[in-house]
Amino acid sequence: MSADQTFPTVRTEINGVSVRNLAKSFGTPTYVYDAEKIAQRIADLQAFDVIRYAQKANSNLAVLDWVRRQGALVDAVSAFEIQRALAAGFVAAKDPPEIVYTADLFDEASLDLVVKHDIHVNCGSPTMIDQYGQRAPGRNITLRINPGFGHGHSQKTNTGGEQSKHGIWHDQVDDCLQRADRNGLGVTGLHMHIGSGTDLDHLAQVCGALEKTALQIGRSITCISAGGGLPTVYRGDERPVDLQRYFELWDGTRKRLEAAFDHPISLEIEPGRYLTAECGYLITEIRAIKQMGGNLFYLVDAGFNNLARPILYGAYHPMSICAAQENPNPHHQEVVVGGPLCESGDIFTQDEGGFVSCRSLPVAAVGDYLIIECAGAYGFVMSSNYNSKPMAAEVLLRDGKPHLVRTRQSFKDVIRGESIPE
Ligand SMILES: *Cc1c(COP(=O)(O)O)cnc(C)c1O
Repeated sequence: MSADQTFPTVRTEINGVSVRNLAKSFGTPTYVYDAEKIAQRIADLQAFDVIRYAQKANSNLAVLDWVRRQGALVDAVSAFEIQRALAAGFVAAKDPPEIVYTADLFDEASLDLVVKHDIHVNCGSPTMIDQYGQRAPGRNITLRINPGFGHGHSQKTNTGGEQSKHGIWHDQVDDCLQRADRNGLGVTGLHMHIGSGTDLDHLAQVCGALEKTALQIGRSITCISAGGGLPTVYRGDERPVDLQRYFELWDGTRKRLEAAFDHPISLEIEPGRYLTAECGYLITEIRAIKQMGGNLFYLVDAGFNNLARPILYGAYHPMSICAAQENPNPHHQEVVVGGPLCESGDIFTQDEGGFVSCRSLPVAAVGDYLIIECAGAYGFVMSSNYNSKPMAAEVLLRDGKPHLVRTRQSFKDVIRGESIPE
């Protein structure tokens, strides 16, 4: 990622493809993903032995296929995510495993799938070890450990500590090894997903906790995973993560374990947001503009049914305007950006806690396009049919060409499966 990234507030094209043409060809709201950006982010992480994409960030089949072509492997957290990975061409029973199932529980469908396809399992609870061992003795597993401390600015995104539901509590490792033994499972992998982000002091603590646990498990360990949580820059004033330092900390841990065990240890990283956040643009159309007391509102045709991060976490997304006509107004004004849903929280410019904030954007007219940027991760995948709104179309830009990779839902799609009793 470039060191001082600035986000434009006027945008006419996405990697050479006209926003107006995209909006005209595919309608609005539409998610556009720039494949080249995904490839660049994967290339950033080449120092790691395995880059395992956490597909929950963006699981469109075309994105998964593209990630696979760039040499990354994939993580799945549900039965259908396993099926998506298979549909996108990942092959399960390989070494290293191309698909890993990471969860704190099995439902029937996911347990059946991992057994059937020999999918490597990253167990986040002692129960999973018993359930898997009874069905598939002799296989190897990874343990996801909660080291007893977390990180994260929001209770909703914290992935460690006793408030978190994730992973096996650190003092139950011995019990879990016994469960694995009883069921004939080998513990070959160790995983911690704490999401230290840019806080490298905290990351050093996580590395230390992982190292200690690995030594406790012993020589059966052949793979360690740094988990996900690599941050991405959403605002001009944020600093990108120091990838070199990030890698060095984990590599140091790996090397000490290699020395202790006297065999090679593979180092995995499991990014979601880092690979796909930046590539995504949600193109919307401004459908109404109104002054309400001191606030000027741009109302667009996408809502939190399309992009939930602002209402969920008060997340900030860069925004830009593409005028429908030539010669846009060069002046800026402070605006609130909202959507069409019957819910007062349907505001894209809000801080954590739901406080509405303003954004300086170019003066625009009804019919102009407003692009919500850095929306490729945890965007479409969190969408819903609230207010019976159809889910947006998705477009992948590859080699300068737009490809429709998911059609906008029709009314029929939205009511599929519903029926009125006789
Ligand atoms: C969500 C998740 C990730 C990816 O997190 P990002 O913050 O998007 O990088 C990686 N691993 C696991 C187990 C996850 O649950």
